[in-house]
Amino acid sequence: MNPRILRPQSLADACTLLSLDDDALIYGGGTALQILLKQGVLSASSFVDISGIPGLNELRRAENEILVGSMVSIRRMETDPLVRQFLPLASAAYAKVANPRVRNTATVGGNIAHGDYRLDPPVALLVLGATIEVTSTEGSRSIPIEEFFVDFQLTALDHGEIVTSIKIPVSTDIVASTYVKLSSLSANDWPSASAAAAIFQRPGEAKILRLALGALAPTPVVTSVDITGFREDQVAEAVLERAILMMDPLPDVRGGIEYKRNLGRVAVEDALRNLWRDQPSD
Ligand SMILES: Cc1cc2nc3c(=O)[nH]c(=O)nc-3n(C[C@H](O)[C@H](O)[C@H](O)COP(=O)(O)OP(=O)(O)OC[C@H]3O[C@@H](n4cnc5c(N)ncnc54)[C@H](O)[C@@H]3O)c2cc1C
Repeated sequence: MNPRILRPQSLADACTLLSLDDDALIYGGGTALQILLKQGVLSASSFVDISGIPGLNELRRAENEILVGSMVSIRRMETDPLVRQFLPLASAAYAKVANPRVRNTATVGGNIAHGDYRLDPPVALLVLGATIEVTSTEGSRSIPIEEFFVDFQLTALDHGEIVTSIKIPVSTDIVASTYVKLSSLSANDWPSASAAAAIFQRPGEAKILRLALGALAPTPVVTSVDITGFREDQVAEAVLERAILMMDPLPDVRGGIEYKRNLGRVAVEDALRNLWRDQPSD
């Protein structure tokens, strides 16, 4: 039997509905839920459709961050002038999700809550140091993205917790950033390896390269490398050495372990080349 669709008009009502039923699921854009339902691998008593809740569609600058409501579409993250100007890395990663049809329907909150290790956007959000805001009948809390992806298909969300927004810092210290997605089946497919990277530098301070990898371990993973004073070849050596330690690929229809390790290495090399091309000379 198909789940009932419930359409609360306030966040408080949505939280209450979820707290009363352990088998109720939050319905964002439905792109993942509908597929799982059709495959017969999803059991839910009801879908709590949060599209009618005021405020979840907002996207605005708030001091030194951009606040993105959970119902903002992935397509909007790709095209919004504010995101493109202040968060080009995020915009680039959201633009790589699937195809326009999925991007128009899928939401920022549903994407991150889906918790898949291959998702494109989280890799960029890890480099940028985003925070996930969630609310339930127990109250609200902020989850740093580094603590959000706990294990394979497992996030830090408890049942009944609704992602309400994602806060992404706007950093003037980023001198170059890039997102690289490598897919083995088709250009629109999930990545077999992905890498997001950015160089952070303040005049007179250390130069830090932040690198995140997707599809190369049971969760997306991130690291920072101090590259102050390094030449291009030294950066490549230090970053690749670190990246290889972070990789723990899962074999699947898109490739085996060694293939994905090699593809991961190529993704990191491509990312470093892009960064080196784009950063201003010292
Ligand atoms: C054909 C296809 C190809 C795809 N390719 C890619 C790809 O290349 N790269 C990529 O990154 N992704 C890809 N995806 C995945 C896509 O990004 C996700 O399906 C989508 O982001 C989920 O968003 P949604 O709003 O539709 O979530 P839904 O389907 O509504 O929900 C997904 C999960 O999140 C939960 N949820 C939804 N909203 C919230 C919320 N606000 N708070 C808490 N929990 C919530 C739901 O209960 C469910 O468990 C693909 C999907 C499809 C269908």
